[in-house]
Amino acid sequence: MGQAVVVGAGVGGLAAAGALARNGWRVTLLEQGDRLRADPAALLIWPNGVRALRSLGLADGLDSIATAVPQGGVRRSDGSWLVQPGAAAALSPRVSPVVVHREDLHDALIARLTATLDVRTGITVTQVRTAPGERPAVTDGRSSWEADLVIGADGVQSAVRRAIAPEAAVVSSGYAAWRAVIPWYRAPMLGPDVTLGAEILGGEYRFVAASLGDRGSAGASSRGGIYWQATVAGAARPEAPATQLALLRRWFERWPAPVSELLAATEPGDLVQHDGREISPVLTEFGLAAGTGGVILAGDAAHGMAHHLAQGACLAFEDVATLVTLANGTQPGDGLRAAVHAYSRARVPRSAAVARQTRRVGAVLAPRGRLGTRARDAAFGVLSTRVLDRARGEAVNWFPPK
Ligand SMILES: Cc1cc2nc3c(=O)[nH]c(=O)nc-3n(C[C@H](O)[C@H](O)[C@H](O)COP(=O)(O)OP(=O)(O)OC[C@H]3O[C@@H](n4cnc5c(N)ncnc54)[C@H](O)[C@@H]3O)c2cc1C
Repeated sequence: MGQAVVVGAGVGGLAAAGALARNGWRVTLLEQGDRLRADPAALLIWPNGVRALRSLGLADGLDSIATAVPQGGVRRSDGSWLVQPGAAAALSPRVSPVVVHREDLHDALIARLTATLDVRTGITVTQVRTAPGERPAVTDGRSSWEADLVIGADGVQSAVRRAIAPEAAVVSSGYAAWRAVIPWYRAPMLGPDVTLGAEILGGEYRFVAASLGDRGSAGASSRGGIYWQATVAGAARPEAPATQLALLRRWFERWPAPVSELLAATEPGDLVQHDGREISPVLTEFGLAAGTGGVILAGDAAHGMAHHLAQGACLAFEDVATLVTLANGTQPGDGLRAAVHAYSRARVPRSAAVARQTRRVGAVLAPRGRLGTRARDAAFGVLSTRVLDRARGEAVNWFPPK
């Protein structure tokens, strides 16, 4: 096997570095942060993501930290139902996700890194070098690392991407999002009629919550509680977290349970804010064959998109599962260069399809203005469940390559 440099230790980079090292590659993992760290929020992992993790041999780790999310239906912000939970289950019985605490997932991925893997933190890659006949290399301006395969898993603002798609821009997706996990000891008691897992939609606002384990117990995880995510049209807020929380409480005032209960139980330090960004235009290549192998992109570096379908991390796991299947057993040289092309051919159409569905779902879940909201609500009974169902169905319809 060859030598790989992975740039970025988010979920995509950790999964890639661990999988390649377990398959005999010599791997260096470069991360700009001072340590390997995840947000204190949570992630939904859809069946396609679970399949990808399973094919990477990571399903056991997932089983012990994941909780199934019930199909909660869709409500309006006045509490009325757009899609009853039962109706949603009848429409798409197979597409429920599981939810995991991001720190648990990070720990599970780190636990599967091998002792041979060289992890370097505090390294910000600034440039990628590719030249005919030379192995690709990355540099932080002081040192450089050469390998047969460079994997850019350095997120939506990827420095590695400039080597493959210098024309790609990062643009606002038009939304900001806040997430938090309220630990069980602070979580409010919710009435029996309150369904976690329901999407609650207002004009330009959206809220969803899920339970990480049972109250008082999170299975093998010590990070149980209630996870919530709020999406708001517009840009991220520059104010201090306490002011952001006050704004959230005002924006979501009078929304049905459990929204105000969860916001009341949230502390400013729980908040994780995101400025929604996406890559535009979508890339037509995720790889560049060079030297004895090449450079490839994985995760948000390749296909950063709005979070309406909650598929970004799942796609990153698909990328890694595909890469490992294609690259395994190949030798540096023609074989590995062919694997770089094959990776791009497999992953570009797949992620473009999910990005397309994400835009469709964005129009349904987060329409702009009062007219847009009315049109969405009017259409929900007939059309929008189909749009949502088709989008989720297409997104989860992925199986690891043999
Ligand atoms: C509000 C919200 C909710 C979401 N919910 C879900 C969900 O439920 N399910 C789901 O599947 N997805 C979800 N996503 C998407 C998901 O969070 C991302 O797609 C996923 O985290 C991308 O992982 P990544 O490893 O590709 O990138 P990142 O997580 O961005 O990691 C990139 C890593 O690279 C490092 N890095 C960056 N630049 C450099 C450099 N130059 N040199 C060295 N290191 C560098 C960074 O420090 C970081 O550690 C959500 C996104 C948002 C915004």
